[in-house]
Amino acid sequence: MACKIDPMKMEKDGILTRRSFLAASLIVSDVLFGSSLGREALAATVELEPTPACAEGDDVTPPQTAGPFYKPRSPERKSLLEPGIHGTKIVLEGNVRSTKCKPIQRALIDFWQADGNGAYDNAGYRLRGHQFADGAGKYRLETVVPGLYPGRTRHFHVRVQAPNRPVLTTQLYFPDEPGNKRDSIFNPKLVMARRGSGESQVASFDFVLDLG
Ligand code: FE
Repeated sequence: MACKIDPMKMEKDGILTRRSFLAASLIVSDVLFGSSLGREALAATVELEPTPACAEGDDVTPPQTAGPFYKPRSPERKSLLEPGIHGTKIVLEGNVRSTKCKPIQRALIDFWQADGNGAYDNAGYRLRGHQFADGAGKYRLETVVPGLYPGRTRHFHVRVQAPNRPVLTTQLYFPDEPGNKRDSIFNPKLVMARRGSGESQVASFDFVLDLG
């Protein structure tokens, strides 16, 4: 029944936006004045309920060591897939933004990683590549799930740089990876969200840079 909706309780529960408050108020009006408008408004609002993608004051992405396998001058490319690569396909995607929630257009993002067998290519540039975030600060990389090598949990390496700003060097980790607990430099703030399975996996991570 519409009359069971209590706007004050919804606000207390943290689920009330300005729009849903309006809709809930209309439901109350509905009860009082016999209109169906409120019910329709609330239904529309529920569908549109936003999950904030960014909150001002979010933590900056923490730095991590580059490790021994970084090589400068990687090729510019959005797919690291090529014939003969070992590993399960995965897409890595997300945003680069400032602590003030501003997308960072043309941010440089340079990835390097082990292949599915845990091996880095130190002679050439396999599974190494950089790209620039688009006009909305978004990036997307096609690659493979990095394999494990002794002493480390599963990870990507990345360097991120806003135009004319210092480089952030860090690493990204997989959720529910058993090795996370045993890796002394693992940082839970650097865990990607992961969805899909098999060859249709997508991992996502938003880089947050402090531009002052
Ligand atoms: Fe590594």
